[in-house]
Amino acid sequence: MNKSDSERIAGILSHFGYVETENEKEADLLIVNTCSIRQLSADKAYSLLGVWGKRKKTKANLKIAICGCVAQQDKDKIRQRAPYVDLIFGTHNIYELPNLIKRIENNEKICAITTTPVVCNQNDFYISRKKSVNAWIPIIEGCNNFCTYCVVPYTRGRERSRNPEEIIREAENIVKEGYKEITLLGQNVDSYGKDLRDKNITLANLLRNLNKIQGDFRIRFVTSYPSDITDDLLNAVSECEKVCKYFHIPMQSGNSRILKEMNRRYTKEQYYEIVSKIRNKFDDVTITSDFIAGFPGETEEEFIDTLNAIEELQLDYSNTAAYSPREFTKAGKMVDKFISEEIKYERLNRLNEKNREICLKSNEKFVGRILNVLVEGKTEKDGKILLNSRAGNNKIVHFESNKYNIGDFADIYINKAQTWCLYGEPKE
Ligand code: SF4
Repeated sequence: MNKSDSERIAGILSHFGYVETENEKEADLLIVNTCSIRQLSADKAYSLLGVWGKRKKTKANLKIAICGCVAQQDKDKIRQRAPYVDLIFGTHNIYELPNLIKRIENNEKICAITTTPVVCNQNDFYISRKKSVNAWIPIIEGCNNFCTYCVVPYTRGRERSRNPEEIIREAENIVKEGYKEITLLGQNVDSYGKDLRDKNITLANLLRNLNKIQGDFRIRFVTSYPSDITDDLLNAVSECEKVCKYFHIPMQSGNSRILKEMNRRYTKEQYYEIVSKIRNKFDDVTITSDFIAGFPGETEEEFIDTLNAIEELQLDYSNTAAYSPREFTKAGKMVDKFISEEIKYERLNRLNEKNREICLKSNEKFVGRILNVLVEGKTEKDGKILLNSRAGNNKIVHFESNKYNIGDFADIYINKAQTWCLYGEPKE
């Protein structure tokens, strides 16, 4: 979502004659778009502001801005720690930028943070997408779930779905521009349409409509909330040939008591049922997940349920993190139940080890098989140029070829599996 916001910000700035520079030291305007999902990312943003603040002492006309979730949440702290920042703008204020930029150019210092979005017609703005094969389209922003560890409902607000016609128009333009993959984004993407009056507006129907766009491209969607995955959504994924057979469904914990403490609206058993339903419906589907180690009050036995879940469900890949207390959240106040850093990181190491083991197993299943991949880039390894590609089920595949280029689809015979990727050669 932040990448997509950055593309929108870059698009708006281009209206004012700003051009992106590869060399940060040349910049007249520096913007850090922040994430506050974990303390580490917030700390990185503050450290960057420190570096930029020093630069401003030798470059008086340099303007500094901070936006995103840290800005939304910490405006007073930023003003105190980095008073030289010219512009602080929140996640709801991106479309106010035309006016905000004019004002900072006139040497005003501004803090634009609202708790409700500043409404705009998103079609009025050009989006400066990075030249690549993938394009992101946010379809719903915000979240109504209030998981007790998560700051998103406080920084991104409640769920707001975009109108489907606007999304389809954006997708048609993306395909015309030559992008080969569209990823529909939402903190809780399956909730798409629930806040709109027309009950036919659902993620399933949006996928069906996007699938009708002519062209050689594929569609993904992230992130799914386990209990919001409907049979109709699974049917749509199955019917639509352009939609990738890939689901990212954060489980967060393999223990039902911890899930309840997290205010997740499903039990371990219900999550298992969803995974089994998806695996029964699709061949070669990839299911990835997210897990938190050391949630407040988590016992060793409850943590072992998480390790077992990764193994029993054979989750193809999991993002893992040690629990990080976030301001405003319910879990952040459970101070008396906090797990020591030592135990949290020891559990995280075991989680990562299990993840690596299951990922390798998942990749090994594809050796000797053919996967249809999209070439995304190139790297040099041992003096050879390797093409980096991704299969519809999200497996990363590297191969050598003079025949294919970035943006091409190719059938690749897989001959080697490693933990995080596969190697292969073009099918003759
Ligand atoms: S569903 Fe996701 S975004 Fe929403 S509160 Fe829970 S973790 Fe945060």
